[in-house]
Amino acid sequence: MQAATQNSQPQYRAYDVVIIGGAIMGAACAWFLSHNEDFNGSILVVEKDPTYQFSSTMTTTSCIRQQFSEPLNIHISQYGADFITNLRARMGNDKRVPELSIHNFGYMYLADNEAFANVLRANQQVQLQAGASTQLLNADQIKQAYPFYKVDDIVLGSINLVDEGYWDATAVFDWWRRQSKERGVEYISNEVVAMKVNVNGTRVESVTLSSGQEVACGQVVNASGPRASATASMVGIDIPVEPRKRYSWVFEAQKPLDRDLPLTVDPSGVHVRENGNGTYQAGGHSAFDPAADYDDFTMDLDLWEQHIWPVLANRIPQFEAIKVTSEWAGHYAYNIWDHNAIVGPHTQVENFFFVNGFSGHGLQQAPAMGRAIAELITYGQYRSLDLSLFAYDRIAQSRPLLEQVII
Ligand SMILES: Cc1cc2nc3c(=O)[nH]c(=O)nc-3n(C[C@H](O)[C@H](O)[C@H](O)COP(=O)(O)OP(=O)(O)OC[C@H]3O[C@@H](n4cnc5c(N)ncnc54)[C@H](O)[C@@H]3O)c2cc1C
Repeated sequence: MQAATQNSQPQYRAYDVVIIGGAIMGAACAWFLSHNEDFNGSILVVEKDPTYQFSSTMTTTSCIRQQFSEPLNIHISQYGADFITNLRARMGNDKRVPELSIHNFGYMYLADNEAFANVLRANQQVQLQAGASTQLLNADQIKQAYPFYKVDDIVLGSINLVDEGYWDATAVFDWWRRQSKERGVEYISNEVVAMKVNVNGTRVESVTLSSGQEVACGQVVNASGPRASATASMVGIDIPVEPRKRYSWVFEAQKPLDRDLPLTVDPSGVHVRENGNGTYQAGGHSAFDPAADYDDFTMDLDLWEQHIWPVLANRIPQFEAIKVTSEWAGHYAYNIWDHNAIVGPHTQVENFFFVNGFSGHGLQQAPAMGRAIAELITYGQYRSLDLSLFAYDRIAQSRPLLEQVII
């Protein structure tokens, strides 16, 4: 990671684009805009915490999958996989940029009842049609491929081993920022605390920083993650995005598994994945799951002992002997309404752009989102993948587009 030294004051009083939030979405938007040959404007990224310590981006599981129920999410991840696995080429064959791959251990969704098995079956059809390689396995087939699971209660499993697994998001994030800065994008350590809108309420004219300056803006991008609603409320807009606490644990197994562990989604919702060298990363949340305070990252101290570990040890008996080596809490920017992203301009405040509400699957969507916002700002329309289904107007018109596969 780059050192967290950056100016807190903007060099200029006005920018063509101001991006609020500099984690993976802000970085993606800045990179794709600054690398679009048809865009010649100035870009300011305002980030309140340049260590990114509590951002979703830094508290993530860092995986990509093709198993969604909405075809558009599959196409978004397919582009994400292409970008990741051709990173250096996509970033101008810059020799400093690492070559990345996806550790394709797949996601294994386990169903313990016919109703959920039917959901997996229906989703597989959607996924195959969209070009994914999802396979359905019965309990015997699961046991044969992964003898470490206990499958007595399992009706069906769903797994895809193509472009599905872990990837190094930190490397992409880091290189997006480096190359953007080299192209003149300005990052400052500051916080947007207010915005001024014109008298008709159709345009944001300026953002106000916590240090007091007003910065005039041509376009504003809300890339503020779990704080997206707070940012939108500065221009009087409501969006159904809440911070929800999600806990992670890394543990060592006394007797490591003899093959890669897929990112296994137990019917209980607890999930666990391969983490390399005999370590594994588990995740889950409390049964009581209200909107969190923006600054609340305390652990639920009972959750591991009383819920997560017993579930893991039941599903994978080798996980009875394990030792937790680290744990943390992060926030999903949870779209409580339909679990999908909100992308593009507001319907009335036309220069206020959303890139929000990723509900736990935003990291893999960052390449497609950055490209999309760059196209909208540069051309006023999508040029590659059409993300209109994720437009804000579905909220205004009460047309939810439900993504069923969230973790
Ligand atoms: C536990 C966990 C596991 C996850 N696992 C996965 C996964 O496996 N795969 C996947 O694809 N996704 C995953 N996600 C989701 C993914 O991490 C997020 O969707 C993605 O990181 C969102 O990036 P972001 O830039 O929108 O938000 P964030 O990373 O939260 O960044 C928002 C930034 O905005 C800044 N900010 C906020 N308000 C202001 C303001 N007013 N002024 C200035 N700066 C501001 C914040 O400081 C922050 O740095 C996971 C998330 C969590 C929490």
